[in-house]
Amino acid sequence: MPLERTFSIIKPDATRRNLTGKINAKFEEAGLRIIAQKRIHLSKAQAGVFYKVHAERPFYDELCQFMASEPIICQVLEGEGAISKNREVMGATNPADAAVGTIRADFAESVGENSVHGSDAPETAAEEIAYFFSGLELVG
Ligand code: UDP
Ligand code: MG
Repeated sequence: MPLERTFSIIKPDATRRNLTGKINAKFEEAGLRIIAQKRIHLSKAQAGVFYKVHAERPFYDELCQFMASEPIICQVLEGEGAISKNREVMGATNPADAAVGTIRADFAESVGENSVHGSDAPETAAEEIAYFFSGLELVG
């Protein structure tokens, strides 16, 4: 497994419920290192750019509204096979389908308000990291 970096967001439903530490513990227990982290409050327009791949989906407007509703925690996670490992730790998009012990099984409120985002491939990971962080902020 190569050493990889992936982009992660702790979403508004989770920051609102003060779950940042509990979610970070799941990442660290899985061997993912948090090599960059910051708390920001996105505008709806910024959320729209981040989720532009979903622009044609029926849930897009609600998703952008949600992502701009409260602060989020943006992160870069590093580890062996970090992209797929993080997707495992997150669990399925719909918490009803998420495996026991995953972040979404334990914390997500609904398919939309599902506590975390994680990149799905090396190309999206690189693009998403560059949207939120400068190279100087990545301290591996
Ligand atoms: N989403 C939603 N309704 C759906 C599918 C997705 O509100 O039916 C939201 C949800 O917050 C999800 C995000 O859109 O995390 C991005 O969807 P994607 O299919 O990329 O899921 P993910 O990669 O986050 O598991
Ligand atoms: Mg996705």
